[in-house]
Amino acid sequence: MELTSAQEEIIKLKDEINEIRFNDPKRVIELAHQVLALDEADEEHPEHGFAMFSIGDAYYTMGDSDKCLQYINHAVVEFHRTADWEKLGECFNLMGIMFSHQGNMANALDSYYAGINLAETYHLDFLGAMIYQNFAELCDRTNNVEEALRKAYQSQEYINRLTHHHRRDELYMANQVSIIKANLKLHQLETAEDHHEDLQDFLLAHPEYQDDLDVLLMEMLLAKEQGRLGASLDLLDKAYQAFMKYPYGIDFFWEGFELMEQMEEHGMEEQLEVIISHIKHGVQGDGFPDLLMRLSKFRIDLLTRQGNQQGLLEELKVYCGYVDMQTKQNYRNMYQFIELQDSLKQSNQQNALLQQRAETDELTAIANRRRLNEVSDHFFENAMSTKKNFGVEMLDIDKFKLVNDQFGHIVGDACLVALADVLRTVQNEHVFVARYGGDEFFILFLGLSRDEISAICQKIAKTMSEVIVDRNLPQFTISQGVCERIPLGPNKLWDFTSLADLALYESKRRGGNTTIIVQNSQELKQISLKGSEKR
Ligand code: GH3
Ligand code: MG
Repeated sequence: MELTSAQEEIIKLKDEINEIRFNDPKRVIELAHQVLALDEADEEHPEHGFAMFSIGDAYYTMGDSDKCLQYINHAVVEFHRTADWEKLGECFNLMGIMFSHQGNMANALDSYYAGINLAETYHLDFLGAMIYQNFAELCDRTNNVEEALRKAYQSQEYINRLTHHHRRDELYMANQVSIIKANLKLHQLETAEDHHEDLQDFLLAHPEYQDDLDVLLMEMLLAKEQGRLGASLDLLDKAYQAFMKYPYGIDFFWEGFELMEQMEEHGMEEQLEVIISHIKHGVQGDGFPDLLMRLSKFRIDLLTRQGNQQGLLEELKVYCGYVDMQTKQNYRNMYQFIELQDSLKQSNQQNALLQQRAETDELTAIANRRRLNEVSDHFFENAMSTKKNFGVEMLDIDKFKLVNDQFGHIVGDACLVALADVLRTVQNEHVFVARYGGDEFFILFLGLSRDEISAICQKIAKTMSEVIVDRNLPQFTISQGVCERIPLGPNKLWDFTSLADLALYESKRRGGNTTIIVQNSQELKQISLKGSEKR
């Protein structure tokens, strides 16, 4: 298939977006809007989800939580519509991170579990690795280091399965760091040192990660736990320098808090103030009140220690302002959640409608061949496993071509519709009817005896003749061929359909307007012989 110029342009834009995703959110938003505009040309809007996700992701990087949620909600609906489970999972991951930054732990949990469900159902190893890793951080932040360690090990299982993913190294490193840190916090120095050795090998091979903030913080904790206090202080300073290099604080603010805790411990008040304003600068509007409250708490402690009564009073007022912001944010989140659920419900209904259309015969509105295939497998397996009687009928209009030739296609169509209407009246949980194509129909029987099947066949023929009169249609008859029995081990569905086809052929051979029901080819042979004897 040849790409249109719009599609080519979209591919270029997507590549660029992926490249600058973490560094230039403003540009990402511009480019994603271009993708949206180009995507309008395609009726199915295949890239809407990607564009919405990219914009939401960029707003997150810029610390604007409301806009982030707004776009991610759109992306969720889009990826749900296009059944793109990996990207849908990434949305849940981002929502999880964002909610946990907001201090909205229940929503964060919900989001992570929704993503984990997708990862497990569709074997999405990168997604599973990433979410468990973030989940581990959430547990760490909520002071449950044991659970954090368990989640980090779960992430590790997924990472081990990732062989060629382009972000594997980055995840591996973050995961090892989490495992080491958790072990250190639990004072399991030996285990931490074992993992540290593995990580050292990795860092030797990947020197670009050596000055990573996470690595430095972990090294600092390790040095401290090993009693190397001088080294630990040096590392603290290095980590501080590294932290100040990040232009947007939001992704790293937990690392920022870890730094601040250490600085508080060592009385590094000046640097503490610098970090507070650096993080504040990275958070726009009132998107992350929980984070701002935590920052404010550091200032309150600082001012208390300094005995600065006036400053303290002002900071307390600031703190109360954040509490107010947080309440309002919870309300907004609640309504965004309601909106999302409504949109998903609508999307579900649309999907169900499309599915129904894809499985229905356009002319007669009964099931088509595609649906027949599904149901016949289902009926057959059920009959096989529960040893129930199973039947396949093929039904065909006699000399239908003549009807078309004499009365035209419109009348022919009306005959097909009338037949389908009659068939619909016998459909229930044991009987399934479908149009196979042309003037050929199929009926499946599950758990019905030969007598019951025979009665249904007679009823169809009789009702059909009545409906022909009622609807003023030209006279026509039908032929029916059925194969029914309890399927045995080696039987295939095909054995039933091919015999039903032969039975139908035998009905036609006898001049049509006939029903022939057989159990196996022997019975059919006997019936055929009898037919010839008669002539
Ligand atoms: P037989 O008794 O052997 O079944 O004869 P027949 O004429 O019914 O068999 P055949 O399979 O040769 O012809 C089926 C005809 O059904 C051919 C075509 O004109 C007609 N047909 C197939 N699909 C449609 C349809 O959707 N609408 C109408 N009006 N006619 C159709
Ligand atoms: Mg026919």
